[in-house]
Parts: sequence; C-alpha cells; structure tokens
Amino acid sequence: MADERRVAVVTGASSGIGEACCRSLADAGFHVVAGARRLDRLEALAVEIGCDAFQLDVTDLDSVNEFAAQIPKAGVLVNNAGAGFGSQPISDFDEDAWRRTWETNVLGVMFVTRALLPKLEASGNGHIVNIGSTTATDVLPTGGSYAASKHALRAISRTLRLELLGKPVRISQVNPGLVETEFYAVRLGDAEKGQKMYEGYTPLTAQDIADCVTFTVTRPPHVNIDELLVKPLDQAAIGVMNRRPAST
Ligand code: NDP
Repeated sequence: MADERRVAVVTGASSGIGEACCRSLADAGFHVVAGARRLDRLEALAVEIGCDAFQLDVTDLDSVNEFAAQIPKAGVLVNNAGAGFGSQPISDFDEDAWRRTWETNVLGVMFVTRALLPKLEASGNGHIVNIGSTTATDVLPTGGSYAASKHALRAISRTLRLELLGKPVRISQVNPGLVETEFYAVRLGDAEKGQKMYEGYTPLTAQDIADCVTFTVTRPPHVNIDELLVKPLDQAAIGVMNRRPAST
C-alpha cells in the first residue's frame, strides 16, 4: 500500500532540537527524513522511529543536492541545523568563526530551501519552519556572529513569505530562548563548559521546541503561524536570567 503520510524533512537531526522534532513529527504521523553530518546517530534514530536517514552537510552544495535527490516528496522542511561560533567583540571579530556560523545558519538554509522548494510546492501543502533564536530580534555583546546570522535568517523567512504569496507554501519561524542541547558544547568546544551554561535555572528542553514545531505544521493549511518566540520562564531577555544559587 502506498505511504500517504506527509513527508517532513528535518536538518540537524542528529542532536537536540532537530532530533526531538523528528520524534515528535513521527509521533504526529509524518514520514520523517532526517539529515545531519553524523550518520551513525541518524541511523540509530532511524532504527528507533522508522525515519529515513541521509547524510547532509548544509554548508556543502553537493551534499545538499545529493540529500535532496534522495527525497522524492516533501511537505514540511524544518531548517534546524545551526551553530554559533565566535565570542569576540565586533572590533576584534574572528573571520573563521563568522564564516562557519554564517555558512551554516544562513547559506545552509538557503541551499536546503532552494533544493526542496519545488517539492514543497508540488505537495500542494508545503511548510518551511526555520529555527531562529531570541537573537533573531535582539543582540548581546560578543554574540555578534550568531545574532547577525539569526537576524539574517528572519529576513529570509520574511522575504520568502512575500515571494511565495499565492503559492501553497507556508513560512514560519520558531525563535527559542535557552534550550538544553549540545549547542554550547559545540560552541565552546567543551561538553563540561557547555553544560555549565544551564546551571542555576530551568532551561527549555528540546522537546518543548519540538512541540511548537509540530503544533505549527499541524494547523489547517490556511493558517500560517509567522513567528513564535519561546523562552524559559527563568529567562526575561537574552542574558537576563533568574539564576538560583546552587543548593548546599
Ligand atoms: P545541537 O548542537 O544539539 O544540534 C545542532 C544540530 O545541527 C546537530 O544535529 C548538528 O548535526 C547539526 N548541524 C550543525 N552543523 C551542520 C551542518 N553543517 N550540516 C548539517 N547539520 C549540521 O544544538 P540545538 O539543537 O540547540 O540547535 C538546533 C537549532 O536551534 C540551531 O539552529 C540553533 O541555532 C537553534 N537554537 C538553539 C538554542 C539553544 O539554546 N540550544 C537557542 C536558540 C536557537 P551534525 O553535527 O551531526 O551535522
């Protein structure tokens, strides 16, 4: 019997928010296609939830095209793969950190979106969900490379919404505050230091954001959730946390 399920493609599915989105979308009845560089992790996920797992480096055009060629149909694209490198002030910015951040968070989204857009449109009910950040609309000192990339991502989401008006493709952006994932371990190059970023307050879980993504893509086709800003209760703004002293 033909598989009639809507197909949801998730980038950066080997960890954190992307992995949680795969589980959540599979639970909601989607056929999930998971992409990331670490294929071993994707394959373990595939065994668990029955998704497709294909290697993907969003910064590499050949990899993106190869990935897209393996996907005959796509209804939902979650542009989640992302990272934030560099912690210098703008006056002393690290070129390599900016390049890596922008190539992943901006060009990567552009490559994947362009490659899958015809299939999303052909589905008759396409939906792109870009995973932004509180830094899509706000900034913090020494976080320039990441905030600028997420501001750019928001500009891409808004531009796409204008350019695709009249076509059956919805564009949403989910902007999370602090979520406990491997993000800071990758950013700081150290798992222990990364974990310390979550001490003294209750961060969001990857599942919290996956819930928002799944809610967004399961609204009726005429409903477009443009943007969601989702923060932990303990976070009033970027860098403004209700930190509790460690219990003795
Ligand atoms: P993780 O580090 O846990 O996950 C990042 C995912 O992105 C991994 O699966 C990684 O897979 C993938 N990825 C990174 N680079 C590439 C690449 N070049 N090609 C393909 N996949 C790539 O972090 P999060 O889950 O937290 O991050 C997910 C998204 O959420 C990002 O866009 C991030 O900016 C955003 N976000 C996170 C917040 C947080 O507090 N954690 C807050 C706001 C936004 P692999 O290495 O296997 O390729």
